[in-house]
Amino acid sequence: MISSILPTYNRAPLSFVSGEGSWLTDEGGRRFLDFGAGIAVNALGHAHPALVAALTEQAGKLWHVSNLYRIPQQQALADALVEQTFAESVFFTNSGTEAAELAIKMVRRYWFERGEERLTILTFEGAFHGRSTGAIAAAGSEKMTKGFGPLMPGFKTLPWGDHDALDAALDDSVAAVLIEPVQGEGGIRALPDQCLRGLREACERSGALLVLDEVQSGMGRTGRLFAHEWAGIDPDIMMVAKGIGGGFPLGAVLANERAAAPMGAGTHGSTYGGNPLACAVGLKVMEIIAEPEFLAEVSRKAGLMRQKLEGLVAAHPDIFEEVRGLGLMLGLKCRKPNTDVTAAARDAGLLVVPAADNVIRLLPALNVPDADLAEASARFDRAAQALSVG
Ligand SMILES: *Cc1c(COP(=O)(O)O)cnc(C)c1O
Repeated sequence: MISSILPTYNRAPLSFVSGEGSWLTDEGGRRFLDFGAGIAVNALGHAHPALVAALTEQAGKLWHVSNLYRIPQQQALADALVEQTFAESVFFTNSGTEAAELAIKMVRRYWFERGEERLTILTFEGAFHGRSTGAIAAAGSEKMTKGFGPLMPGFKTLPWGDHDALDAALDDSVAAVLIEPVQGEGGIRALPDQCLRGLREACERSGALLVLDEVQSGMGRTGRLFAHEWAGIDPDIMMVAKGIGGGFPLGAVLANERAAAPMGAGTHGSTYGGNPLACAVGLKVMEIIAEPEFLAEVSRKAGLMRQKLEGLVAAHPDIFEEVRGLGLMLGLKCRKPNTDVTAAARDAGLLVVPAADNVIRLLPALNVPDADLAEASARFDRAAQALSVG
C-alpha cells in the first residue's frame, strides 16, 4: 500500500522535535550537529532569538492580506535588497522554483517587448533550478525530466566549464544565460571569478540577459551577501530563496530596471508571495546577514572549516578525495559512496547532505560557533574511521 505521504523522498529514519543553533534533538533525546541546515535554509541556525521574536510579534498582529494591498514588511525587505544589491526591483515568491519560473517569464517578456525573437535560454549540465516543469526543463537532466515530457521548449544545456561550447552557442538567438555561480546539487562546483566576468562580457556583446541562480549560494553563504560579488559583476536577474527566510518559506527574484520594466500590472502574481509573516522574518535575516562584520565572520569560519576538512582528506585518503566550495558552501568529494559517508556521519551524530558527483555538502548555519566546527570535524573523523574499519 502506498504511504500517506507521496513517496518521492528516501527519508532518513529520524524525526526531530527541537533545535537550537547548530543542534537538533530527535524524539529519543539524541542530539545531532546539523551541518545541512535544512539544505542551506537555516542560515542563522535553529530558533535564533531575533527571528523567533520577529515571527511571533508579526504572528500576533497579522498573517496574510494578499498582494491586493500594500504590505509594509514586503516594501521594507524590497528596499533593503535594492539598497544592498544591483537590483532595482524585487518580486517575492515562496520558494526557489517559483523564483525560477518568474526569472524565465521575465526573460521572455523582455524580448517580447523589444519585438525580437530571442527564445533560447542557455543553461549548464549539473544545474538545479527547482522542480517545476519550467525548472526541470531548464536544468535538463535525465534524472529530473524522465517521464515528465513533453518538456517546456526554449532551453539549451551546455557542458560545465566549456568556454568554446559557450562561445559557439551564444549568438543573437540567445535570450539569456542562466547559471549558478556555485552549483549546489550539482556537487559544489564553483565557477571561477574570471569565468563569471567573461560570461558577463559575452552576454554584453550578444545582448543576452545574465540570470544568476543564487538560491543556494546567496544570502551570505559564500562570505559575500551574494556569490557573484566576488567576481565584481552584476547580473540582470537573480533568483534567491533558501537562506533568505532563515527557515520560513520565502524566495525572491531581483532584477535591474531594464529586465524588470516589462513586468507591468497583471503580468505575474502570487497569492502568498511576500506576505507579512515571511517578510517580517526575511527583514530580520537581512539585517543580520548584510552586516559587513557578519560576512567577514563567515569567511573566517569558512577558512577554519576548510582547514579541518583538508586535514580529514589527508587523514582518510581511502574515504575522501578533495575539498571544494566557497565560504560555508563546502563539499567533500568522496571515494566511498557519498550516501554511505552521509549515513556514517549521521551515526556519529553529524548531519550532512549528499550532492551529485559523489560529493557531500557541508552547509552549516552561517553563525556556527567555532567550537561546533571543531566538533563536526571530530565527528567526521569518527565516521571515517568507522567506514575504514567496516
Ligand atoms: C534549492 C534550489 C532551487 C529550488 O528551490 P526550492 O525552494 O526547492 O523550490 C533552485 N535553485 C537552486 C540553486 C537551489 O539550490
